[in-house]
Order: sequence, then C-alpha cells, then structure tokens
Amino acid sequence: MLVGVPKEIKNNEFRVGLTPPSVHELVARGHRVIVQTGAGAGIGLTDEQYTAAGATIVPTAQEIFAQAEMVVKVKEPQPQECALLRPGQILYTYLHLAPDPEQAAALVKSGAVCIAYETITGPGGGLPLLAPMSEVAGRMAIQAGASHLEKSKGGAGILLGGVPGVAAGHIVIIGAGVVGTNALQMAVGIGARVTVLDKNVDRLRQLDLIYGNQITTLYSNAHAIEEAVLSADLVIGGVLVPGAAAPKLVTRAMVSKMKKGAVVVDVAIDQGGCFETSHPTTHADPTFVVDGVVHYCVANMPGAVARTSTFALNNATIGHAVALATKGWRQALRDDPHLKNGLNVCEGKITYVAVAQDLGYDY
Ligand code: NAD
Repeated sequence: MLVGVPKEIKNNEFRVGLTPPSVHELVARGHRVIVQTGAGAGIGLTDEQYTAAGATIVPTAQEIFAQAEMVVKVKEPQPQECALLRPGQILYTYLHLAPDPEQAAALVKSGAVCIAYETITGPGGGLPLLAPMSEVAGRMAIQAGASHLEKSKGGAGILLGGVPGVAAGHIVIIGAGVVGTNALQMAVGIGARVTVLDKNVDRLRQLDLIYGNQITTLYSNAHAIEEAVLSADLVIGGVLVPGAAAPKLVTRAMVSKMKKGAVVVDVAIDQGGCFETSHPTTHADPTFVVDGVVHYCVANMPGAVARTSTFALNNATIGHAVALATKGWRQALRDDPHLKNGLNVCEGKITYVAVAQDLGYDY
C-alpha cells in the first residue's frame, strides 16, 4: 500500500503521523511511504532521516492526499485537508468528532474511511491510543506545577522536593488513572509529600502496595478533597468519568481557602475540568490566577513536548497502521474488533454510535 504523511497544519502542532522508525516498519513489509517535506522538522526529524528509513519526500500536502491510499496524521483534518480526501481512502488519525459537526459533515462528504485513534480499544480494556498522551500529560503536570510554584511565575516560591532541613512541598493528585499514576511517579521521584485520591479502592490498594508509606491514599469524597487541597502546594486534577464532563470536585469555595501562591494543574480540562474555577488555556498563555491560586489549564499539554509525544504515539499506532496497510481496511477490521471500534466514518456514513447520536446522524 502507498502510505502518506502530510505535515500537520493545525496551529502550534509539531507532532507528525509517522516517525522514521515507523516508516521503516512499513517499508520493511513491502509498503511505500511518501512524506511531505519538513513534516518532522519541528521536532528534529529531517527529510534525510525519512529518506534513510525508506520514504520518498514530496513537496506538498496535495500530492500526499492525491496519491496515498492511507493518510496517517496526528490531529483531526482541517477543512482544507478534508477537501483533499478521496472516496475509499483511509484516514488514520485522532478525530474527536462528537463535538465537531463541521468536520463530521466534511468526512461524510469525502467518502473516505476514517479511523479514529481515540476510539480504538485494547484487549485489556481501555483506550491504548489515548493512554500515551495521558502518560505524557501526567508526567508533565508535575514539571508544569513545579515551574509555576516559582516566584517569577506567580507561585509561592516553593521547591517541591524541599532541601535537608526544610520540609518538602505537598502534592495532591485527584484521580489515580493513567494521568494520576504518571504524575504520582514523578512526584515521588522529586521527593515531594504526596496524597492521592480516587473513588476506585482497588486502584488505591495497588498504589499502596507499590509506594507504601511514601504516599498517602485517600478515598475521594468532598470532605477528603477539601482537607487535602487546603494543605496542598500543588493540586493535579486527573479524573475521568467516561463519556461525561469531568465532575467539579474542587469548588470555588475550596479554592478561595487554599494557600496563596499554590498551583493547580487541571489536566482534565479537556473534559471541562475538575476545578470549578478552571477554564481552558493555551501554551502561549498557560495560566491565570483565582483568589491567589495559580491555575494551569492547558488543554493539549502533550503538544509542548511534541517530540516525546510523537514517539509515544507511534509506539501505540504503528501496529494497526501495519495491519491496515498489509490487509486493507476491510480485512484488518474484520480480524480485529478493537481496531474496528476505531471506525468512525466509512464511505459516506457515520459508523460510531456515540458520534452518530451526538450529531443526529442515522446509524
Ligand atoms: P483514566 O480513566 O485512566 O483515570 C481517571 C481516574 O479518575 C480513574 O482512576 C477514576 O476512578 C478516577 N475518578 C473518577 N471519578 C473520580 C472522583 N470523583 N474522585 C476521584 N477520582 C475519580 O483517565 P486518564 O487517562 O488518566 O485521563 C484523565 C483526564 O485527563 C481525562 O479527562 C483526559 O482526557 C485528560 N487528559 C488531558 C490532557 C491534556 O493535555 N490536558 C492530556 C491527556 C489526558
């Protein structure tokens, strides 16, 4: 199959659909890969590295879309990209269609076969093509929080690890899923005092076994959350209720009683956020202050570490990309019900029930 990788055109997006090692995986199985010139330049992946891996460099996105049987991307296609898609062509990327009726209509009109990373399931449950970005965001949350605790960034002037003779800072992590456990690992690593809250007691049991008395685990309820956040220097919000907006677990009243110069990192902001005081921000202007508490609410945290994120994403996407290229989409989806769950739009029809229901399409 001829696989194409255009340069991402969404504002401030530096990730790329395939890395040179992923190109090599496809080429080694007899496929051909065309990559738009400069597609990986923003993260130090040169045209020469792609050529050495077996790709052919082409000058424009138009050529990629016109020639490729499968287009591999990162972000949802922008309107000018949707217009280039062809009937029967495979589009393999993040789509996030439910809140995006214009994109859904354009993909239906294109007649393409659109497979969304975010709805592909895994044999062990969960969403394995979303997990790498939660890993990145969870780990980044500690580094973003630590940096904003510095005086120059509006924070209280606290070093989370403390120093000999001076107490470490207190990090509170709400939600012990992929984001929360990755934040926890970093928090313990820098020597902070850490409290983790979740409603899932089995999860807390596992963490207790791993970390013992290095951390405190608490069952999540309003009382425990209030007590924890009032003594926190840094609070990480990483809750998720699948298919629903994030619950507002930290109220405005709680924020008003927090320490001045404390920092909250609301990773769950892409689902509306779990702090009542949160609203989405961007990497260009990541924080705002409410009642003396610095809020970091960037909705696409992994974009800041685009190189790490690209490699992490490729580790999760390449297996299915190889299957699609080798077997064709019909056989690949027949053979793998988890990959089939990724099919959102197929030759003029919405094929993912939640998207069809949300956007009012027949299913
Ligand atoms: P996950 O499903 O792995 O974990 C969510 C956890 O929240 C679960 O352990 C669940 O038990 C817990 N939870 C649910 N209700 C709770 C409550 N009332 N109190 C405490 N815990 C509760 O999800 P994840 O992959 O860790 O993702 C978390 C959130 O981060 C999602 O909204 C995800 O979209 C978001 N995210 C944001 C970014 C970003 O850039 N901002 C990046 C990646 C992920």
